Amino acid sequence: MVKICVIGAGIVGLSSATITQDRFPEATVKIIADRFGNDTTSWGAGGLFRPSLKHITGTSPQTVRKWCHASWDRYIGLAQSSLAKETGISLVTGFVASRENEDFMFKEITINAHDLSKTELKRLQLPYNFGVSCTTVITEVTKYMPWLMKRFQERGGTLEQRTIKNLNELAGEFDIVINCCGFAALDLVGDKKVYPIRGQLVKVKAPWIKHWYLTSDNTYLIPHCDCVIIGGCRQKNNFSTSVDPEMSADIMMRAKKLFPQLEGAEVIGEWAGLRPCRSPPRIEKEFLFSQGRKLRIVHNYGHGANGITLSWGTSLDAVDLVEECMNDLRTSKL
Ligand SMILES: Cc1cc2nc3c(=O)[nH]c(=O)nc-3n(C[C@H](O)[C@H](O)[C@H](O)COP(=O)(O)OP(=O)(O)OC[C@H]3O[C@@H](n4cnc5c(N)ncnc54)[C@H](O)[C@@H]3O)c2cc1C
Repeated sequence: MVKICVIGAGIVGLSSATITQDRFPEATVKIIADRFGNDTTSWGAGGLFRPSLKHITGTSPQTVRKWCHASWDRYIGLAQSSLAKETGISLVTGFVASRENEDFMFKEITINAHDLSKTELKRLQLPYNFGVSCTTVITEVTKYMPWLMKRFQERGGTLEQRTIKNLNELAGEFDIVINCCGFAALDLVGDKKVYPIRGQLVKVKAPWIKHWYLTSDNTYLIPHCDCVIIGGCRQKNNFSTSVDPEMSADIMMRAKKLFPQLEGAEVIGEWAGLRPCRSPPRIEKEFLFSQGRKLRIVHNYGHGANGITLSWGTSLDAVDLVEECMNDLRTSKL
């Protein structure tokens, strides 16, 4: 029986593990991670499905489109199914606004998308020159990840809490490793292309806010069922995951200025995390040789600010590479 290990229990690891089980029911699949659930970056993300050619760079637009379309199909399928409540995925209308004219990819993929006219921007009191209104999906990751995890375990998937110091330590123990370690690739595989863009969010109770807003100044609102996520910031090469109270105050000040409808919202939480950036995201096969043994690795990390958006699409590609590893396993002597 082929033994497959997935490193990482963030949204990318859980997606890869689930797809692997579906594709290779005869294999055993184990997730190894040093952090699970609310200790991962994925858990804190706003969860807005935001396709972008501006933020996902280093690869062809066709590839980005393929990843985004595959994820969109997955998410909208769940949002429109009886699993919507359990998976925490819903269709929500909102607005993206920018000072520069952008090629908003929202228009290609989401539903009901149209350019906002100057009159509409004015009515929305958005001080921007360009914008798009559309209906996209919001994934409440705190529901979606436990749902993925439950499915994984129900199908015989196993878990281990462990810090992998070197991929070679898995040779002999597993035939194939899918590496979904996110930002930690900087240390785990010494990938110097990986860097953090720190983000911070404030959570408020404001059930009267039903739309999402995303602006080119990094100020945004994302409504969840029980709270509204307010962001944010993009601090390149800042490695701190501690909440900065001054930044929270600044986020609230900027948000209230742009969205006066936040008046009366009660702050119920704050969070900071590192976007695992890489240009391009690394979806790649690699063979390592250790003490006469061959370890087949499939990397799936570096999703930056768009990991919730891209996770299903890149994981489908990663599992195609697992299939190539399976074929190599069948024909190779090592
Ligand atoms: C403030 C903020 C807001 C965001 N909002 C959005 C949004 O609205 N929409 C969107 O699409 N994206 C958003 N993102 C981006 C998204 O959160 C990330 O791209 C995504 O979570 C990356 O997922 P991941 O599974 O690769 O990494 P992670 O969630 O970090 O998971 C990595 C896993 O690997 C494990 N691991 C790492 N190293 C080792 C090791 N050596 N041994 C064992 N285990 C290891 C960790 O324990 C963990 O389980 C946001 C990010 C931030 C910071």
